[in-house]
Amino acid sequence: MVLEDNRYFLSGGVDPLELIEQYGCPLYVYDSAIMERQYKRIINAFQVKNLKINYACKALSNINILRVFKNLGAGLDTVSVQEVELGIRAGFKPQDIIYTPNCVGIDEIEEAVEFGVRINIDNISILEQFGLSHPHVPVCVRINPHIMAGGNNKTSVGHIDSKFGISIHQMPLVHRVIEATGLKVEGIHMHTGSDILDPDVFLFGAEILLRIAREFPALEYIDFGSGFKVPYKEGDIETNIEELGEKLSERFNEFCRDYGRDLSLMFEPGKFLVSEAGHFFVRVNVIKQTTSTVFAGVDSGLNHLIRPMFYNAYHRITNVSKPMGKPRFYTVVGYICETDTFGINRRIAEIHEGDVLCLHNAGAYCFSMSSNYNSRFRPAEVLVHEGQAYLIRKRETIDDLLRNQVEAPVFSQNGVGSR
Ligand SMILES: *Cc1c(COP(=O)(O)O)cnc(C)c1O
Repeated sequence: MVLEDNRYFLSGGVDPLELIEQYGCPLYVYDSAIMERQYKRIINAFQVKNLKINYACKALSNINILRVFKNLGAGLDTVSVQEVELGIRAGFKPQDIIYTPNCVGIDEIEEAVEFGVRINIDNISILEQFGLSHPHVPVCVRINPHIMAGGNNKTSVGHIDSKFGISIHQMPLVHRVIEATGLKVEGIHMHTGSDILDPDVFLFGAEILLRIAREFPALEYIDFGSGFKVPYKEGDIETNIEELGEKLSERFNEFCRDYGRDLSLMFEPGKFLVSEAGHFFVRVNVIKQTTSTVFAGVDSGLNHLIRPMFYNAYHRITNVSKPMGKPRFYTVVGYICETDTFGINRRIAEIHEGDVLCLHNAGAYCFSMSSNYNSRFRPAEVLVHEGQAYLIRKRETIDDLLRNQVEAPVFSQNGVGSR
Protein backbone atom coordinates (compact mmCIF):
# COMPACT_ATOMS: atom_id res chain seq x y z
CA MET A 1 0.00 0.00 0.00
CA VAL A 2 1.12 3.52 -0.64
CA LEU A 3 0.35 6.54 1.52
CA GLU A 4 -0.91 9.53 -0.46
CA ASP A 5 -2.68 12.62 0.87
CA ASN A 6 -2.89 10.97 4.30
CA ARG A 7 -4.65 7.92 2.91
CA TYR A 8 -3.56 4.43 2.00
CA PHE A 9 -4.12 3.04 -1.48
CA LEU A 10 -3.68 -0.37 -3.02
CA SER A 11 -2.35 -0.55 -6.55
CA GLY A 12 -4.43 1.11 -9.23
CA GLY A 13 -5.63 3.65 -6.67
CA VAL A 14 -8.02 1.23 -4.96
CA ASP A 15 -9.10 2.52 -1.54
CA PRO A 16 -9.10 -0.27 1.07
CA LEU A 17 -11.67 1.52 3.24
CA GLU A 18 -14.13 1.46 0.35
CA LEU A 19 -13.56 -2.27 -0.03
CA ILE A 20 -14.37 -2.74 3.65
CA GLU A 21 -17.52 -0.70 3.26
CA GLN A 22 -18.55 -2.93 0.39
CA TYR A 23 -17.41 -6.37 1.61
CA GLY A 24 -17.28 -5.96 5.38
CA CYS A 25 -14.58 -6.50 7.95
CA PRO A 26 -12.34 -8.39 8.59
CA LEU A 27 -11.21 -8.69 5.00
CA TYR A 28 -8.32 -10.25 3.11
CA VAL A 29 -7.22 -8.23 0.08
CA TYR A 30 -4.60 -9.40 -2.42
CA ASP A 31 -2.84 -7.30 -5.00
CA SER A 32 -1.97 -9.12 -8.24
CA ALA A 33 0.54 -6.44 -9.26
CA ILE A 34 2.77 -7.44 -6.34
CA MET A 35 2.52 -11.14 -7.23
CA GLU A 36 3.53 -10.31 -10.79
CA ARG A 37 6.42 -8.14 -9.60
CA GLN A 38 7.75 -10.97 -7.43
CA TYR A 39 7.31 -13.57 -10.16
CA LYS A 40 9.20 -11.43 -12.65
CA ARG A 41 11.97 -10.81 -10.16
CA ILE A 42 12.69 -14.52 -10.06
CA ILE A 43 12.34 -14.95 -13.80
CA ASN A 44 14.73 -12.08 -14.45
CA ALA A 45 17.24 -13.23 -11.83
CA PHE A 46 18.09 -16.48 -13.61
CA GLN A 47 19.90 -16.91 -16.91
CA VAL A 48 19.30 -20.53 -17.83
CA LYS A 49 17.77 -22.10 -20.91
CA ASN A 50 14.77 -23.69 -19.19
CA LEU A 51 13.44 -22.11 -16.01
CA LYS A 52 10.19 -23.19 -14.42
CA ILE A 53 8.65 -21.52 -11.38
CA ASN A 54 6.01 -23.63 -9.70
CA TYR A 55 3.84 -21.63 -7.32
CA ALA A 56 3.55 -23.48 -3.97
CA CYS A 57 -0.18 -23.09 -3.61
CA LYS A 58 -0.47 -24.12 0.01
CA ALA A 59 0.57 -20.53 0.76
CA LEU A 60 -2.67 -19.15 -0.68
CA SER A 61 -4.92 -21.54 -2.52
CA ASN A 62 -7.83 -19.49 -3.84
CA ILE A 63 -8.44 -20.65 -7.40
CA ASN A 64 -8.20 -17.07 -8.72
CA ILE A 65 -4.73 -16.70 -7.24
CA LEU A 66 -3.76 -19.94 -8.97
CA ARG A 67 -5.00 -18.42 -12.22
CA VAL A 68 -2.97 -15.27 -11.70
CA PHE A 69 0.13 -17.46 -11.69
CA LYS A 70 -1.05 -19.66 -14.53
CA ASN A 71 -1.49 -16.55 -16.68
CA LEU A 72 2.05 -15.48 -15.80
CA GLY A 73 3.34 -18.81 -17.09
CA ALA A 74 4.01 -20.52 -13.76
CA GLY A 75 3.49 -24.14 -12.89
CA LEU A 76 2.09 -25.36 -9.60
CA ASP A 77 3.62 -27.05 -6.58
CA THR A 78 1.11 -29.11 -4.63
CA VAL A 79 1.34 -31.11 -1.41
CA SER A 80 -2.01 -32.91 -1.39
CA VAL A 81 -4.21 -34.53 -3.98
CA GLN A 82 -6.80 -31.87 -3.17
CA GLU A 83 -4.35 -29.17 -4.21
CA VAL A 84 -3.71 -31.18 -7.38
CA GLU A 85 -7.42 -31.11 -8.14
CA LEU A 86 -7.65 -27.37 -7.43
CA GLY A 87 -4.80 -26.87 -9.87
CA ILE A 88 -6.50 -28.93 -12.56
CA ARG A 89 -9.75 -27.03 -12.01
CA ALA A 90 -7.84 -23.75 -12.21
CA GLY A 91 -6.75 -24.86 -15.69
CA PHE A 92 -3.16 -25.99 -15.19
CA LYS A 93 -1.96 -28.75 -17.48
CA PRO A 94 -1.13 -31.89 -15.50
CA GLN A 95 2.51 -31.79 -16.61
CA ASP A 96 2.79 -28.29 -15.13
CA ILE A 97 1.80 -29.56 -11.69
CA ILE A 98 4.23 -31.26 -9.36
CA TYR A 99 2.89 -33.20 -6.41
CA THR A 100 5.21 -33.29 -3.38
CA PRO A 101 3.41 -35.01 -0.52
CA ASN A 102 4.82 -36.15 2.78
CA CYS A 103 3.65 -39.19 4.72
CA VAL A 104 0.67 -39.88 2.49
CA GLY A 105 -0.38 -43.39 1.55
CA ILE A 106 0.25 -45.02 -1.81
CA ASP A 107 -3.48 -44.74 -2.60
CA GLU A 108 -3.34 -40.93 -2.54
CA ILE A 109 -0.26 -41.00 -4.77
CA GLU A 110 -2.16 -43.23 -7.17
CA GLU A 111 -4.97 -40.70 -7.31
CA ALA A 112 -2.41 -38.08 -8.31
CA VAL A 113 -1.09 -40.43 -11.01
CA GLU A 114 -4.64 -40.59 -12.38
CA PHE A 115 -4.56 -36.81 -12.76
CA GLY A 116 -1.36 -37.17 -14.77
CA VAL A 117 0.74 -34.80 -12.65
CA ARG A 118 4.43 -35.11 -11.83
CA ILE A 119 5.08 -37.25 -8.78
CA ASN A 120 7.73 -36.37 -6.23
CA ILE A 121 8.53 -39.16 -3.78
CA ASP A 122 10.18 -38.48 -0.44
CA ASN A 123 10.70 -41.85 1.21
CA ILE A 124 12.09 -45.23 0.21
CA SER A 125 9.10 -47.27 1.33
CA ILE A 126 6.80 -45.47 -1.11
CA LEU A 127 9.49 -45.42 -3.81
CA GLU A 128 9.58 -49.21 -3.63
CA GLN A 129 5.78 -49.67 -3.58
CA PHE A 130 5.37 -47.18 -6.39
CA GLY A 131 8.13 -48.76 -8.45
CA LEU A 132 6.48 -52.16 -8.16
CA SER A 133 3.03 -50.98 -9.18
CA HIS A 134 3.89 -48.13 -11.62
CA PRO A 135 7.33 -48.82 -13.11
CA HIS A 136 6.46 -46.80 -16.22
CA VAL A 137 5.47 -43.58 -14.47
CA PRO A 138 8.57 -41.40 -14.15
CA VAL A 139 9.14 -39.85 -10.75
CA CYS A 140 11.07 -37.14 -8.99
CA VAL A 141 13.02 -38.02 -5.86
CA ARG A 142 13.10 -35.64 -2.90
CA ILE A 143 16.50 -35.58 -1.25
CA ASN A 144 17.22 -34.46 2.28
CA PRO A 145 20.55 -32.64 2.01
CA HIS A 146 20.98 -32.40 5.80
CA ILE A 147 21.44 -28.72 6.14
CA MET A 148 19.99 -26.68 8.96
CA ALA A 149 18.29 -23.64 7.58
CA GLY A 150 15.10 -21.72 7.92
CA GLY A 151 13.31 -19.20 10.05
CA ASN A 152 12.30 -21.51 12.89
CA ASN A 153 12.12 -25.16 13.82
CA LYS A 154 8.65 -25.67 12.36
CA THR A 155 9.67 -24.49 8.91
CA SER A 156 13.16 -25.94 8.82
CA VAL A 157 12.63 -29.16 6.95
CA GLY A 158 16.00 -30.19 5.48
CA HIS A 159 18.04 -31.02 8.57
CA ILE A 160 19.14 -34.49 9.61
CA ASP A 161 16.20 -35.28 11.89
CA SER A 162 13.57 -33.88 9.57
CA LYS A 163 10.75 -36.13 8.36
CA PHE A 164 11.12 -34.77 4.82
CA GLY A 165 13.08 -36.24 1.97
CA ILE A 166 15.39 -39.20 1.51
CA SER A 167 18.74 -38.88 3.22
CA ILE A 168 21.71 -38.31 0.93
CA HIS A 169 23.34 -41.17 2.82
CA GLN A 170 20.67 -43.56 1.57
CA MET A 171 21.36 -43.04 -2.12
CA PRO A 172 22.77 -46.55 -2.55
CA LEU A 173 19.43 -47.94 -1.40
CA VAL A 174 17.55 -45.59 -3.74
CA HIS A 175 19.60 -46.88 -6.66
CA ARG A 176 18.97 -50.47 -5.64
CA VAL A 177 15.19 -49.89 -5.54
CA ILE A 178 15.30 -48.16 -8.92
CA GLU A 179 17.28 -50.97 -10.50
CA ALA A 180 15.05 -53.63 -9.04
CA THR A 181 11.80 -51.97 -10.11
CA GLY A 182 12.86 -50.31 -13.38
CA LEU A 183 11.59 -46.89 -12.26
CA LYS A 184 12.65 -43.88 -14.29
CA VAL A 185 13.83 -40.87 -12.29
CA GLU A 186 13.05 -37.68 -14.21
CA GLY A 187 13.72 -35.17 -11.44
CA ILE A 188 15.71 -34.52 -8.30
CA HIS A 189 14.34 -32.22 -5.65
CA MET A 190 15.17 -30.61 -2.34
CA HIS A 191 13.35 -28.12 -0.15
CA THR A 192 15.21 -27.07 2.93
CA GLY A 193 12.72 -24.78 4.62
CA SER A 194 11.23 -21.36 4.76
CA ASP A 195 13.02 -18.09 5.39
CA ILE A 196 16.52 -18.82 4.21
CA LEU A 197 18.44 -15.57 4.23
CA ASP A 198 21.74 -16.43 2.75
CA PRO A 199 22.34 -17.24 -0.95
CA ASP A 200 25.41 -19.20 0.13
CA VAL A 201 23.27 -21.60 2.17
CA PHE A 202 21.27 -22.16 -0.98
CA LEU A 203 24.35 -22.72 -3.07
CA PHE A 204 25.72 -25.14 -0.51
CA GLY A 205 22.52 -27.17 -0.74
CA ALA A 206 22.61 -26.87 -4.52
CA GLU A 207 26.07 -28.44 -4.66
CA ILE A 208 24.82 -31.44 -2.72
CA LEU A 209 21.84 -31.81 -5.01
CA LEU A 210 23.94 -31.50 -8.17
CA ARG A 211 26.38 -34.09 -6.91
CA ILE A 212 23.49 -36.53 -6.53
CA ALA A 213 21.91 -35.50 -9.84
CA ARG A 214 25.00 -36.75 -11.67
CA GLU A 215 24.11 -40.28 -10.58
CA PHE A 216 20.81 -40.18 -12.54
CA PRO A 217 21.24 -40.31 -16.33
CA ALA A 218 17.62 -39.65 -17.41
CA LEU A 219 16.84 -36.38 -15.63
CA GLU A 220 14.65 -33.69 -17.12
CA TYR A 221 14.67 -31.25 -14.24
CA ILE A 222 16.31 -30.30 -10.99
CA ASP A 223 14.03 -28.70 -8.43
CA PHE A 224 15.71 -26.51 -5.85
CA GLY A 225 12.61 -26.03 -3.72
CA SER A 226 12.07 -22.73 -2.01
CA GLY A 227 12.58 -20.94 1.25
CA PHE A 228 13.13 -17.44 -0.09
CA LYS A 229 12.65 -14.90 2.63
CA VAL A 230 10.69 -11.69 2.22
CA PRO A 231 10.86 -8.58 4.42
CA TYR A 232 8.26 -8.50 7.19
CA LYS A 233 9.56 -5.54 9.16
CA GLU A 234 10.68 -2.20 7.87
CA GLY A 235 14.39 -2.58 7.10
CA ASP A 236 14.22 -6.39 7.17
CA ILE A 237 16.65 -8.22 4.96
CA GLU A 238 15.33 -10.56 2.32
CA THR A 239 16.88 -13.29 0.20
CA ASN A 240 19.00 -11.58 -2.41
CA ILE A 241 17.32 -13.32 -5.30
CA GLU A 242 19.33 -11.42 -7.89
CA GLU A 243 22.63 -12.54 -6.39
CA LEU A 244 21.36 -16.09 -5.99
CA GLY A 245 20.12 -16.11 -9.57
CA GLU A 246 23.43 -15.02 -10.97
CA LYS A 247 25.50 -17.51 -8.99
CA LEU A 248 23.19 -20.48 -9.30
CA SER A 249 22.60 -19.92 -13.03
CA GLU A 250 26.31 -20.03 -13.66
CA ARG A 251 26.69 -23.20 -11.63
CA PHE A 252 23.64 -24.82 -13.22
CA ASN A 253 24.76 -24.07 -16.76
CA GLU A 254 28.15 -25.56 -15.99
CA PHE A 255 26.41 -28.64 -14.61
CA CYS A 256 24.32 -29.02 -17.78
CA ARG A 257 27.43 -28.83 -19.95
CA ASP A 258 29.00 -31.66 -17.95
CA TYR A 259 25.76 -33.61 -17.89
CA GLY A 260 25.54 -33.32 -21.67
CA ARG A 261 22.01 -31.94 -21.83
CA ASP A 262 20.01 -28.86 -20.89
CA LEU A 263 17.82 -29.65 -17.93
CA SER A 264 15.08 -27.46 -16.48
CA LEU A 265 15.86 -25.52 -13.37
CA MET A 266 12.82 -25.43 -11.14
CA PHE A 267 11.84 -23.51 -8.02
CA GLU A 268 8.67 -23.70 -6.00
CA PRO A 269 8.23 -20.52 -4.00
CA GLY A 270 5.10 -19.74 -2.03
CA LYS A 271 5.86 -16.98 0.42
CA PHE A 272 8.10 -15.02 -1.94
CA LEU A 273 5.32 -14.79 -4.51
CA VAL A 274 2.33 -13.93 -2.36
CA SER A 275 3.32 -12.75 1.13
CA GLU A 276 3.63 -9.05 0.39
CA ALA A 277 0.64 -9.11 -1.95
CA GLY A 278 -1.73 -9.79 0.95
CA HIS A 279 -3.29 -7.34 3.39
CA PHE A 280 -5.53 -8.32 6.24
CA PHE A 281 -7.87 -5.58 7.41
CA VAL A 282 -9.42 -5.74 10.87
CA ARG A 283 -11.48 -3.29 12.88
CA VAL A 284 -10.69 -2.21 16.43
CA ASN A 285 -13.57 -3.04 18.75
CA VAL A 286 -12.08 -2.06 22.08
CA ILE A 287 -9.19 -0.04 23.46
CA LYS A 288 -8.43 -1.43 26.88
CA GLN A 289 -5.80 -0.16 29.24
CA THR A 290 -4.37 -2.31 32.02
CA THR A 291 -1.69 -1.32 34.51
CA SER A 292 1.05 -2.18 32.04
CA THR A 293 -0.42 -2.34 28.56
CA VAL A 294 -2.70 -0.59 26.12
CA PHE A 295 -4.59 -3.28 24.20
CA ALA A 296 -6.28 -2.73 20.89
CA GLY A 297 -8.79 -5.57 20.58
CA VAL A 298 -9.88 -6.32 17.02
CA ASP A 299 -12.67 -8.21 15.26
CA SER A 300 -10.44 -11.15 14.32
CA GLY A 301 -7.97 -13.50 15.89
CA LEU A 302 -5.77 -16.56 15.53
CA ASN A 303 -8.69 -18.23 13.77
CA HIS A 304 -8.04 -15.94 10.78
CA LEU A 305 -4.31 -15.37 11.02
CA ILE A 306 -2.40 -17.80 13.19
CA ARG A 307 1.20 -17.06 12.24
CA PRO A 308 2.02 -14.75 15.18
CA MET A 309 0.78 -17.32 17.70
CA PHE A 310 2.04 -20.35 15.79
CA TYR A 311 5.44 -19.18 14.58
CA ASN A 312 6.05 -16.01 16.55
CA ALA A 313 5.79 -14.39 13.15
CA TYR A 314 5.99 -10.63 12.90
CA HIS A 315 3.31 -8.85 10.87
CA ARG A 316 3.63 -5.08 10.52
CA ILE A 317 0.47 -3.30 11.69
CA THR A 318 -0.71 0.11 10.54
CA ASN A 319 -3.74 2.27 11.20
CA VAL A 320 -5.48 2.64 7.86
CA SER A 321 -8.28 4.89 9.11
CA LYS A 322 -6.02 7.54 10.64
CA PRO A 323 -2.50 7.10 9.29
CA MET A 324 -1.30 10.53 10.39
CA GLY A 325 -2.18 10.25 14.08
CA LYS A 326 0.52 10.60 16.71
CA PRO A 327 2.23 7.20 17.09
CA ARG A 328 1.59 5.44 20.39
CA PHE A 329 2.29 1.96 21.73
CA TYR A 330 -0.30 -0.78 21.49
CA THR A 331 -0.53 -4.50 21.94
CA VAL A 332 -2.90 -5.67 19.23
CA VAL A 333 -4.96 -8.70 20.23
CA GLY A 334 -7.78 -10.76 18.78
CA TYR A 335 -11.19 -11.78 20.09
CA ILE A 336 -10.47 -15.51 20.53
CA CYS A 337 -10.83 -16.96 24.02
CA GLU A 338 -7.20 -17.84 24.30
CA THR A 339 -4.08 -15.69 24.32
CA ASP A 340 -4.37 -14.27 20.88
CA THR A 341 -1.75 -11.66 20.15
CA PHE A 342 -1.04 -10.14 16.76
CA GLY A 343 1.67 -7.76 17.90
CA ILE A 344 3.22 -6.66 21.19
CA ASN A 345 4.05 -3.07 22.00
CA ARG A 346 3.76 -1.77 18.46
CA ARG A 347 4.16 1.85 17.56
CA ILE A 348 0.98 2.64 15.63
CA ALA A 349 -0.69 5.93 14.71
CA GLU A 350 -3.13 6.70 17.52
CA ILE A 351 -5.99 4.22 17.42
CA HIS A 352 -9.63 4.96 18.17
CA GLU A 353 -12.34 2.37 18.55
CA GLY A 354 -13.78 1.71 15.09
CA ASP A 355 -10.50 2.28 13.25
CA VAL A 356 -9.37 -0.18 10.61
CA LEU A 357 -5.91 -1.68 11.01
CA CYS A 358 -3.90 -3.49 8.37
CA LEU A 359 -1.78 -6.53 9.08
CA HIS A 360 0.79 -6.57 6.30
CA ASN A 361 2.41 -9.56 4.60
CA ALA A 362 -0.88 -11.40 4.88
CA GLY A 363 -0.70 -13.24 1.56
CA ALA A 364 1.16 -16.40 2.53
CA TYR A 365 -0.01 -18.93 5.12
CA CYS A 366 -2.71 -16.63 6.47
CA PHE A 367 -6.09 -17.36 4.92
CA SER A 368 -4.90 -20.84 3.97
CA MET A 369 -4.26 -21.65 7.65
CA SER A 370 -7.50 -20.09 8.90
CA SER A 371 -10.14 -22.00 10.80
CA ASN A 372 -13.60 -21.69 12.30
CA TYR A 373 -12.33 -21.82 15.88
CA ASN A 374 -14.82 -20.23 18.30
CA SER A 375 -17.39 -20.86 15.56
CA ARG A 376 -16.38 -17.68 13.78
CA PHE A 377 -16.87 -17.19 10.07
CA ARG A 378 -13.85 -17.04 7.82
CA PRO A 379 -13.51 -13.64 6.14
CA ALA A 380 -14.14 -12.72 2.54
CA GLU A 381 -11.22 -12.45 0.10
CA VAL A 382 -10.84 -9.75 -2.53
CA LEU A 383 -8.38 -9.63 -5.41
CA VAL A 384 -7.25 -6.28 -6.78
CA HIS A 385 -6.26 -6.71 -10.42
CA GLU A 386 -5.52 -3.94 -12.91
CA GLY A 387 -7.30 -1.32 -10.84
CA GLN A 388 -10.41 -3.44 -10.30
CA ALA A 389 -11.44 -5.21 -7.10
CA TYR A 390 -13.02 -8.64 -7.40
CA LEU A 391 -14.68 -10.62 -4.65
CA ILE A 392 -13.01 -14.05 -4.83
CA ARG A 393 -14.48 -15.65 -1.73
CA LYS A 394 -17.63 -14.82 0.14
CA ARG A 395 -17.65 -14.36 3.88
CA GLU A 396 -19.01 -17.48 5.54
CA THR A 397 -22.42 -17.71 7.17
CA ILE A 398 -23.98 -19.91 9.84
CA ASP A 399 -24.92 -22.38 7.10
CA ASP A 400 -21.22 -22.94 6.39
CA LEU A 401 -20.65 -23.85 10.04
CA LEU A 402 -23.50 -26.34 9.95
CA ARG A 403 -22.97 -27.64 6.41
CA ASN A 404 -21.47 -31.02 7.28
CA GLN A 405 -22.99 -31.44 10.69
CA VAL A 406 -25.51 -34.24 10.85
CA GLU A 407 -28.26 -34.28 13.41
CA ALA A 408 -28.34 -37.69 15.01
CA PRO A 409 -31.99 -38.78 15.14
CA VAL A 410 -31.80 -39.27 18.89
CA PHE A 411 -30.98 -35.56 19.35
CA SER A 412 -33.11 -34.26 16.55
CA GLN A 413 -35.52 -31.50 17.43
CA ASN A 414 -37.23 -29.81 14.55
CA GLY A 415 -35.29 -26.89 13.32
CA VAL A 416 -31.97 -26.87 15.16
CA GLY A 417 -30.01 -27.03 11.95
CA SER A 418 -32.18 -24.52 10.15
CA ARG A 419 -34.27 -21.58 11.09
C1 LIG B 1 5.79 -25.17 1.55
C2 LIG B 1 6.61 -25.65 0.45
C3 LIG B 1 7.18 -24.75 -0.45
C4 LIG B 1 7.03 -23.26 -0.34
O1 LIG B 1 7.80 -22.70 0.68
P1 LIG B 1 7.85 -21.11 0.86
O2 LIG B 1 8.68 -20.90 2.06
O3 LIG B 1 6.45 -20.62 1.04
O4 LIG B 1 8.44 -20.53 -0.36
C5 LIG B 1 7.90 -25.27 -1.49
N1 LIG B 1 8.07 -26.61 -1.64
C6 LIG B 1 7.54 -27.50 -0.79
C7 LIG B 1 7.75 -28.96 -1.03
C8 LIG B 1 6.81 -27.07 0.28
O5 LIG B 1 6.30 -27.95 1.13
